[in-house]
This record gives sequence, C-alpha cells and structure tokens, in this order.
Amino acid sequence: TMEVKGLNKQFGEVIALKDINLKIHKREFVCVIGPSGCGKSTLIRILAGLEQASSGQVLLNGEAVTEPGPERGMVFQGYTLFPWLTVKKNIMFGLIESGYDKGTAESEAREWINLIGLTKFENSYPHQLSGGMKQRVAIARALANRPKVLLMDEPFGALDAQTRAKMQAYLLEIWKNIDITVFFITHDLDEAVYLADRILVLKANPGEVQEIVEVPVPQPRSPDQF
Ligand code: ATP
Ligand code: MG
Repeated sequence: TMEVKGLNKQFGEVIALKDINLKIHKREFVCVIGPSGCGKSTLIRILAGLEQASSGQVLLNGEAVTEPGPERGMVFQGYTLFPWLTVKKNIMFGLIESGYDKGTAESEAREWINLIGLTKFENSYPHQLSGGMKQRVAIARALANRPKVLLMDEPFGALDAQTRAKMQAYLLEIWKNIDITVFFITHDLDEAVYLADRILVLKANPGEVQEIVEVPVPQPRSPDQF
C-alpha cells in the first residue's frame, strides 16, 4: 500500500500541490488525469523520491519514502534510455547498481528482453529502435529490479495512436502476470478508462485545497478476473 498524507509542494511562490491525500492499494492500476500544470509530474516525482515534499508524507507499506529506491520503478514520458548503451546494457544498468554481479545482471536482462519481445535487438542502441520499442525497453528497465510499484508519467504520450494502443495492451498483459501496483499519469481519458481500476482527477485549484476526485470506472475490474 502506498499512502500520501497531507502532501504539499511549493516551488517558491508557486503552489504545485496542496494537501493531497491518497491511498493506493497493492495490485491496483491507478490512473491520474488532470489539466496541464496541475501538478501530476510533481506528484509522481515525489512518489518516486526524485523530489522532496514541502510538507506531508509518502508511505510505502508504512515506511516513509524520501529518496528513490529499487522498490519503485519509474518510466518517464520521453525516451529516457542511455543513448550510449545497448538495449541489454540499459536494462543491466540498474541491476548492477543494485549489487547484482555482471553475469546475473546479464542473464536477468536477457529474460526481460525476451519478455518484451526484443531478443533480436539486445545489442542494438536506442537510436536504432522505434518509439514503441524504446518504451518497452524503458518499461523492462523499470521492472528489472522487481519493484513493488511502477510509476509511469505519460509513458505513451509521444507515440502514435496505433503504437499507443499496442503498448496499452502490452502493459496490461505485463500487469496481469507480475505482482505489481501501477500508478499511471495520462492526459488521455480514453487511455485511463481502458487501463485503470481507479481513475483519480487532480484538479487545479490555485490557492485552495487541491481536490483529488475519484471518477467511476465504467467496468471495474479486479486482477483475479484475468
Ligand atoms: P503537464 O500535464 O503539462 O505535464 P503537470 O500536471 O505534470 O503538467 P507539473 O509539471 O507537476 O504539472 O507542474 C506543476 C506546477 O509546478 C507548474 O506550475 C510548474 O510550473 C511548477 N513546477 C514544476 N516543477 C518545477 C520546478 N522544478 N521548479 C519550479 N516550478 C516547477
Ligand atoms: Mg507532467
């Protein structure tokens, strides 16, 4: 369970988040939507530990998180792969950082590469891949440390409609098979409706308490329905 309690974030005069309270349960697929500038990326960066809250708390299974950790994987909007590393080495990077020896990191990376269907591309560089393929590598890299929570900030925003639809189906397939909680930010309501168990709308109320409103999902689904 990930819990956000009375979270506030200010950048100088700008109030990016005001009194946010949330609870995300294990195994849920939660989508957050909201207008540009309402603080979605700020929120997910604080959940990732990449940014500090001005006040309030983020708890993961009861423990306060204040910095990035291997139990939270992150996928960013752009194609944030290391351009000078191959697909395999991009995925190995975090594993080695977490203390895996090179041989184990390599065999783990190979398994992920098989899972994302890029076996033939393990020695390719990011610039040799399409956008959808790069995002698959980014997802594999985020999952390689077996995080409990996958944090995704508009991960498919830069993809064409057809690739985006494929990636959505692909992500759901992964989520069905791995014991993971997904926190997913998107601009696209259709995407949220397709993916989410719960949809949260982050409203921009400058100067007031910032509401998070839960909107009903047309066809609520639980992971065991698969
Ligand atoms: P978008 O949908 O366009 O990605 P968003 O909801 O992700 O928007 P944020 O990027 O979280 O919005 O920004 C929320 C507010 O905080 C904005 O007013 C933004 O200018 C401000 N902000 C975000 N990061 C910083 C920063 N590092 N320094 C100063 N202000 C920032
Ligand atoms: Mg953003």
